[in-house]
Amino acid sequence: MLKKFLKEAMALIAGKPAEDLVDLLDTHKHVNEFIIAKKLNLTINQTRNILYKISDYGLVSSIRKKDKRKGWYTYFWKIEILKSLEFIRNDLLKKMDNLQHQIKSRETKRFYVCEKCHVELNEENALFNNFTCTECGSILVMRDNTKMINEMKRNLERLKKDLGFVQQEIAKENQVLEKKKSKEMKKERKEIEAKKRSQKLARIKKKTLKKIKPVKIKKKKIPRKKFFKKLFKKHKARKNLKKKKKR
Ligand SMILES: [Zn+2]
Repeated sequence: MLKKFLKEAMALIAGKPAEDLVDLLDTHKHVNEFIIAKKLNLTINQTRNILYKISDYGLVSSIRKKDKRKGWYTYFWKIEILKSLEFIRNDLLKKMDNLQHQIKSRETKRFYVCEKCHVELNEENALFNNFTCTECGSILVMRDNTKMINEMKRNLERLKKDLGFVQQEIAKENQVLEKKKSKEMKKERKEIEAKKRSQKLARIKKKTLKKIKPVKIKKKKIPRKKFFKKLFKKHKARKNLKKKKKR
């Protein structure tokens, strides 16, 4: 179902040959443009033209890699699923809107038709032409719109169903994206905290080392390491005291 929609969208943007891209491209992995061209049986330039057109709408995206020996770039493509779904949704909405207008017009207005050559005129134009055909001069008859309206309503129902499906897919994709985002944010927060912790430690160390200096002059024979530990303890004790005082 989704593939059908994707094919329609690609074809709408870049013509019929673009349809086959849907079978060749992935939504996660990037595919080498030369492989795409080969499988589409097109030249690399034709393939690129199609892909660029579609990427203008954001339905596909690419990364490029430099060939170290030859020095040129090769592009790798993938389908942007959310953008594609949004494009399909907008297209469906447009079609539905159009159809609704047509239904309304058929329900409220009169149309006249020539039974010989099927020329159709709206009431205004029919009146202007004295209800005769502009092609053959036959008398026009009022059109029964019932059948047409029913067909258009059936089409509209089908489009509504399609829209429901596409909107569900969009919701799914958004959920996936949200999860990914929150995961990344968590990771970032952890990194920031770790950085802060190490900076704090560095500050304490610096402070403590400054205090050691006068001791150094006195040349007391306390091993530096031991002294450092002691001071650290002192620092902590003082800090605790401060905290207690605050309470
Ligand atoms: Zn006619």
